[in-house]
Amino acid sequence: MALVSRIIGDCPGCGAKQAFGNVNVYSRYVYRGCGRCRYNEQVPLPELKKKVLYLDQFFFSHAFRANDQKFVDAAKHISSLTANQQLVVPFSSIHEDETHMWERYAELMEFIKHTSRGYEFKPAYCIEGDQLQDAFHAWLHNERVELQKADAIDDDIDVWDGYYRIDVGGYNRDRDLVRKGKTDAIEGLIDLFPHWRNSTNNFEQDKMLEHEAAAKGYINSYVTYFMRLISGDYSALVDSPIMSQIVEGMLSQLPKEMEHKARLQRVVEFFSTEQFREAPVQDLKSRIFATLKMLVVQGAYQNRDSALKKLSGFYYDVDHISTYAPYCDAILIDAPMHEIVGRQQVNLGERYGVKVFSRSNWEQMLTWFDEIEAEMTDEHRQALAVAYT
Ligand SMILES: [Zn+2]
Repeated sequence: MALVSRIIGDCPGCGAKQAFGNVNVYSRYVYRGCGRCRYNEQVPLPELKKKVLYLDQFFFSHAFRANDQKFVDAAKHISSLTANQQLVVPFSSIHEDETHMWERYAELMEFIKHTSRGYEFKPAYCIEGDQLQDAFHAWLHNERVELQKADAIDDDIDVWDGYYRIDVGGYNRDRDLVRKGKTDAIEGLIDLFPHWRNSTNNFEQDKMLEHEAAAKGYINSYVTYFMRLISGDYSALVDSPIMSQIVEGMLSQLPKEMEHKARLQRVVEFFSTEQFREAPVQDLKSRIFATLKMLVVQGAYQNRDSALKKLSGFYYDVDHISTYAPYCDAILIDAPMHEIVGRQQVNLGERYGVKVFSRSNWEQMLTWFDEIEAEMTDEHRQALAVAYT
């Protein structure tokens, strides 16, 4: 006997009237069973190749408020493509962080998870850590790093969705702390602008400064952690920032018989290589920040208050884009960010083979949706009817 979710008729096994139907969909099969006997069938479904779209917070907050018809319509179109197993719009740890700035965060998060049908990217710190460990490995062994889309998502996305959307665990970071941290950070950033305007650096020099600052951050946070440990402060094992583990991971890739100091020197050496600078998160963040600086030098964001307003989500936007865009077929972001990442200094679309959409090319996004829809084969259409009606 099975718990039949969708009755399709009489049981071919025991003949019970209106007792037979779909139990659930798993991977590439519909499982059918009977509510009265043990008779069951498996119906195979065709192979899938879903497109991946990243929706940043700007889309979700507009679609959720539902006060702009454009967003409501796009959200409907997206749900239809995801229900048709042609598209996935995974949510991320950055959505959770950013959503927790909201008063109605529980509802907004529910909306985001519902839209994503439970598909979730790996947390941002995992992606960053994995990229850097891969880059370090490639540098040590003189290999190239190949970015695989599947690396960013734990689940196999090219499967037929089951009937029950999987919910993911609760959120346990302090909301006010996260909010305050980001507000302070933006004010700090904007306070640098007058100083930037006196700078005579070119873009490449600024990009290099970003790489150096990031390298210093990784090394210093490891050194702080290590000094705490050797001074006997073992709580460092539990309360050190995740960032301190990056260097530790690299050290563990080196031969155990090497002295700690020599291994650390090797890691420090890595942080001034192309391989470090080309790790996608590192590459994109440095390009975006150096481009922002270039725009400031050229005269943008003169007024502190309006800069604060325009850039309030800047750190999150940079995190969303630099962490997840390289793993997607397309990304939807807000127009000021689109302006930055569309410049040749970043050139996100071509550099990482991802379509970039915003309010400024909304029509192109709708056309892309139509193209995906048009790709549906008859076999796929029939399978949808078998699995979900
Ligand atoms: Zn039966």
